[in-house]
Amino acid sequence: MTEAPGAKPESVLPHRPSREQAEDAVRTLLAWVGDDPRRPGLANTPKRVVEAYEERFSGYREDPAAELARTFEDVSGYSDMILLRDVRLESYCEHHIAPFTGVAHVAYLPDKRVVGLSKLARIVDIFGRRLQVQESLTAQIGETIQHVLRPQGVAVLIRASHQCMTLRITNQPGAIMETAHFTGVFKNNESWRRRFIDAVRTDAG
Ligand SMILES: [Zn+2]
Repeated sequence: MTEAPGAKPESVLPHRPSREQAEDAVRTLLAWVGDDPRRPGLANTPKRVVEAYEERFSGYREDPAAELARTFEDVSGYSDMILLRDVRLESYCEHHIAPFTGVAHVAYLPDKRVVGLSKLARIVDIFGRRLQVQESLTAQIGETIQHVLRPQGVAVLIRASHQCMTLRITNQPGAIMETAHFTGVFKNNESWRRRFIDAVRTDAG
C-alpha cells in the first residue's frame, strides 16, 4: 500500500511569507507589466488578489485523507458500485496558474466501508484547491480514496477545459481534456471498468 498523497509536511516547505510580502509581490507584478500600483484603481488590488489566492488554494491547509477517514459507515450488505457523477471541479494548472474547470466522476466498489457522497465531493474540492496538472489531480483523488477507504476499487474520470489551452492555442475554445485513474477491480477487470465508463457517458454524449 502506497502512502496517500497529500500536502508536504510543514517542515519541508519553504518559509511562508507574510500577507504583506504576498501583497508586495502582486505590486511588483503590476509594476512589471507597466502599470502604476500606486494609482487609485489598483490601490486595493494586491489585497484582493492575495485574498483570492487564499481561497483558491485553501487545499494546502486541508488534509483530504483525514476528511475521508472521519466518516466510515457499515456497508450493511450493499455490494454494488457507488457513483458520484458531475462533481463541479475548479482548479489551477501548475504551469500557468490558469484555471481549468469541468466535472469529476468518482466511483468505488465498497468492501466493508462506505462514506457519505458529500465526502467524495470534498476530496475533489480539496485537491482542486492546489496547483497541479489534471493528470496528477485525477490520480491523487483516486489513490486517496483507495488508501483511506480501502474499497475493492476506485474509478475517477475528469473532463475539463483549460484556460491555458483555450487562450494559447487558437481555434480550440471548446477543447476538453479527459483523464482517468483506476484502482482495484476497475483497473483489473474490464467489465467493471466498462460499467463505470458507460455510467458516466450516459448524458455526456
Ligand atoms: Zn497550463
